[in-house]
Amino acid sequence: MEKRGSPDGDPARSLEQGPEGLEGPETPIQVVLRVRPMSAAELRRGEQSALHCSGTRTLQVSPPGGGPDVAFRFGAVLDGARSQEDVFRACGVRRLGELALRGFSCTVFTFGQTGSGKTYTLTGPPPQVRRAQGEGVPVPPNLAGIMQRTFAWLLDRVQHLGAPVTLRASYLEIYNEQVRDLLSLGSARPLPVRWNKTRGFYVEQLRVVEFGSLGALMELLQMGLSRRRSSAHTLNQASSRSHALLTLYISRQTMPPADPGEPPVGGKLCFVDLAGSEKVAATGSRGELMLEANSINRSLLALGHCISLLLDPQRRQSHIPFRDSKLTKLLADSLGGRGLTLMVACVSPSAQCLPETLSTLRYASRAQRVTTRPQAPKSPVAKQPPRLEIEMLQLQEENRCLRAQLGQIDPKASRLSGARVAWAQRNLYGMLQEFMLENERLRKEKSQLQSSQARARDEQRLLAQQVHELERCLLCACYGPQPRPDPAPPCPCVMVPAAPCPALPPLCCCPCCHLCPLCRAPLAHWACPRRDLHLPQVMSPKAPGDMPLCAQPPPWAPPGNPGSAKCPRERSHSDWTQTRVLAEMLMEEEVVPSAPPLPMGTPNTPPVLRGEEEREGGGAAVPNLARRLEALRDQIGSSLRRGRGQAPPSEAARSPSRVLPPC
Ligand code: ADP
Ligand code: MG
Repeated sequence: MEKRGSPDGDPARSLEQGPEGLEGPETPIQVVLRVRPMSAAELRRGEQSALHCSGTRTLQVSPPGGGPDVAFRFGAVLDGARSQEDVFRACGVRRLGELALRGFSCTVFTFGQTGSGKTYTLTGPPPQVRRAQGEGVPVPPNLAGIMQRTFAWLLDRVQHLGAPVTLRASYLEIYNEQVRDLLSLGSARPLPVRWNKTRGFYVEQLRVVEFGSLGALMELLQMGLSRRRSSAHTLNQASSRSHALLTLYISRQTMPPADPGEPPVGGKLCFVDLAGSEKVAATGSRGELMLEANSINRSLLALGHCISLLLDPQRRQSHIPFRDSKLTKLLADSLGGRGLTLMVACVSPSAQCLPETLSTLRYASRAQRVTTRPQAPKSPVAKQPPRLEIEMLQLQEENRCLRAQLGQIDPKASRLSGARVAWAQRNLYGMLQEFMLENERLRKEKSQLQSSQARARDEQRLLAQQVHELERCLLCACYGPQPRPDPAPPCPCVMVPAAPCPALPPLCCCPCCHLCPLCRAPLAHWACPRRDLHLPQVMSPKAPGDMPLCAQPPPWAPPGNPGSAKCPRERSHSDWTQTRVLAEMLMEEEVVPSAPPLPMGTPNTPPVLRGEEEREGGGAAVPNLARRLEALRDQIGSSLRRGRGQAPPSEAARSPSRVLPPC
């Protein structure tokens, strides 16, 4: 007879204790036995039952053909007469649910020969399919298994907790040593099993679905069940060909939270429906079924091997080959780690299945001696040993000091230190902020440059106007009438026909050209600094004959380039030439201005400049034109002042250069 290996002799009692009581000491895996009733086929074949329940915890095995009875003791023994509800209440799954709500990682798994009722115990009879509609018929409530009942109980429990709880679920199967997601949106593809220090073994890219109601969870269950691999063989018409793991993830925020930053407590409740071990000869499996059976048996063998090693206190400390199969990897925490585990061993009562039943019973008995060290996840602060806590506080204090120092640094005072601060805080967020500040600075710089550029353009325009005005004055001075002995020589503008003259074309629309800048007399088109823009109206080569005479520029007007209005480059060149002449004159060089014809000359007369005329006419000294221009300006100014009744400025105040030089 197998003996129970629980330290206190009653694993069920361990689960009745609170998690605080469970934590730390080793807790054995709890095992309950489910004996299914004799099936109709077995009864038809006249098979006898070899199992008898003695009380609620002991099973007597009577080998056929005589021999001593063997007794096995488990946390609970549930025979074929017990309903699904009885099994749910007696197996202790509610206790596991409570512990999962408190943050423990709990596992319920069924184990046994194929056709022994593992799937039935967990999820009820296989869902019937209405052939006409092709729809699955839901399992009748009285036949619903441990899973559906636990779901209903858990959701009811969550509602009465009074604390926010987030529930999520995943559902996978291990088929032929490949993990498949039963809740995947597309076709299920093999997923890798990985390991890391914090999570242990886990399935990568597994879909985890959040749900808020029992209906939603039931739908997920049905979805997984309908996608799970099952086949018919001699011992079971709906034999599961894969190990299926449905996991509920429970995240619960303690109310009130001890620390506002405390992460929610995360518990897990995992239901594992193992595929049954099978003798290929007994099930008559061939081809793909045989491959599946081999894969199932291999993984169950690996599971048995791990359990054997976990039982040995010497070898338990050494290597446990959880990596031998996907199943043992995913059950590693439940078997030898920090989780709490409930095993529901399922057996057939038929004497024909006794060898497999005995094997299962031995296996389950040994599993009872396997212990785990349940550990609930705690908030990171609470988990720290005192030394680490002190270190953390010191670091926090240092961090505060550094922040205060950084706050004292004026970023405007030193760009370098600002850059260092930015460098010290270099991370994605810091870099982003840096770039934003840089962008802002560049934007400001750009707008400043644009406004100064606009100012420069305005200035340039004004200067161009002034140059034009000076040029016009110079021309007037050069080609105007000889100054009379009149102390106030006329403004050059007197040479320009005034606007009232009906024979003249209308004044330029440009307001700056309406008046002479010197004497404020109205000006004509040709005097406008922008006259080139009007030239086509005045000097259109197409209609010179049609044009009234008064619309033509006066003969003393500087020649316009007919194409200049259309060709800004030409106009610029002309402007430049004139400006250069003016500049050379101002440099006191005797230059011969080009271009403008003499006002009194005949059209065919070559232009003769006043300076040349004077030179030719008597060799008189040629006055400096610039100085003369300045002097003319002075004279104009003084005559204007006289006209307004103002006193002329004193001689002393006058610059010597402003005295009108002799012509
Ligand atoms: P397993 O999953 O272990 O291979 P199943 O759960 O599929 O076996 O059960 C095999 C058959 O036995 C199914 O037809 C199932 O309905 C039936 N069965 C199993 N356990 C019971 C039970 N306790 N009461 C009635 N029928 C059962
Ligand atoms: Mg099954």
